[in-house]
Amino acid sequence: MTEPLITAFQASRVGIGFDSHGLVQGRRLILGGVDVPHSQGLLGHSDGDVLVHSIMDALLGAANLGDKGMHFPSSDAQYKDISSLILLGKVANLLVSGSWRISNVDATILAQKPRLGPHLPDMQRLISATLSLEPERVSVKVTTTDYLGFIGREEGIAACAIAAVLRT
Ligand SMILES: [Zn+2]
Repeated sequence: MTEPLITAFQASRVGIGFDSHGLVQGRRLILGGVDVPHSQGLLGHSDGDVLVHSIMDALLGAANLGDKGMHFPSSDAQYKDISSLILLGKVANLLVSGSWRISNVDATILAQKPRLGPHLPDMQRLISATLSLEPERVSVKVTTTDYLGFIGREEGIAACAIAAVLRT
């Protein structure tokens, strides 16, 4: 009698992702594909979008497909300054190829400044569209670290994400 439950469990998998980048002058701040007005931006080989990067690793992890550095090495010139949403779309294609479909994504941005709340709906919209998901399947939240650590000192921004996938 327990067999259907075991089958359902095996068909559903979750993955976790984390990323952080340093804040520097002279870079645009791109989070969740949104160009957020700020005096500093995130340093990175691509656009430094920590939110999208953490979601990419959560999705790849859920499907046990390695990590984003393996698929999109920063040593590869074709990824320089690339929009991370393009890379997220490639991750979505990898999951489809592996017969996985995305159940949901939940992510948290850790940033002291700027205030990101007003931009969260746009991030949710862009990420869900890139993943061909209904917007309600993508949750994007934000928190500060109460001025603690490198995030609190505004030296960088981090993000963590979890994703659930189902075998198609
Ligand atoms: Zn990154």
